[in-house]
Amino acid sequence: MPEGPEMYRVARRIQRALGRRPLTEAACAFPDVDRALAVRVGGPPPEVTTLGKALLLAFDDGARVYTHNQLYGRWIFSDPDRRPDTGRQLRLVLSTERKSALLYSASEIAWIDPGETHPFLERAGLDVLSSGAGVDWIAGWIGRDEFRRRQLGHLLLDQGFLAGVGNYLRSEILFEACLSPKHRPLDLDDEQRRDLAEAVHTLMWRSVETGGITNDPERAEQLKKAGWRRRDYRHYVFSRADQACFACDGAVEKIEVSGRRLYRCPACQPDP
Ligand SMILES: [Zn+2]
Repeated sequence: MPEGPEMYRVARRIQRALGRRPLTEAACAFPDVDRALAVRVGGPPPEVTTLGKALLLAFDDGARVYTHNQLYGRWIFSDPDRRPDTGRQLRLVLSTERKSALLYSASEIAWIDPGETHPFLERAGLDVLSSGAGVDWIAGWIGRDEFRRRQLGHLLLDQGFLAGVGNYLRSEILFEACLSPKHRPLDLDDEQRRDLAEAVHTLMWRSVETGGITNDPERAEQLKKAGWRRRDYRHYVFSRADQACFACDGAVEKIEVSGRRLYRCPACQPDP
């Protein structure tokens, strides 16, 4: 499933594709959303934002369309007079005279009237990307009472903690912060809490800019030049079971936490 940074990149692409031109087409395969969208034709395109792994299309009167790609949803761009031949179910269309943004296969699409909300939006925690939160803000969030007693290996997948962090970011953030999945926020001193906040901030934005590469940018570039495959230089530890840790040369281990695979270097990330 795409994580927050991937959806943030998609949101930027949709926004660029639509620009500021009036909508020439706005339609949805789900009738209630379709009816609400139909009256938007001729008006300005929505502002496209993300909340974690969800994408929101916000119209200027406060009405929003909520979409969640889940496993299969995919945004595709095309000329407005041409539909790509995908074999997928077309679920949502937004077009201007220049470009179409097409959402295929997503099953979660909902219309939210002005002033209304959606259960997902209620549950979502801090979204570092769309909120523009800095390191101090994130460190304060991590220290909140409701999170203090939960192990980071579980907490980091909870969308009510940091919306948009998914499975690869969980392993990468813990490695960057030199923390074990067993650490709880209450085990951390101020400096460790700040390191964790900095790791979250750095890696989420790095992933947006690089298209999902979380490894140190210089190292990733060198390894790429040396002929390494993307999947081997992309991450610090994620999907690198039994390979050498880039920091200490020890073996990266694969474990399971919250039912998902987690990778870590036991030497660089000792248990508390
Ligand atoms: Zn190591």
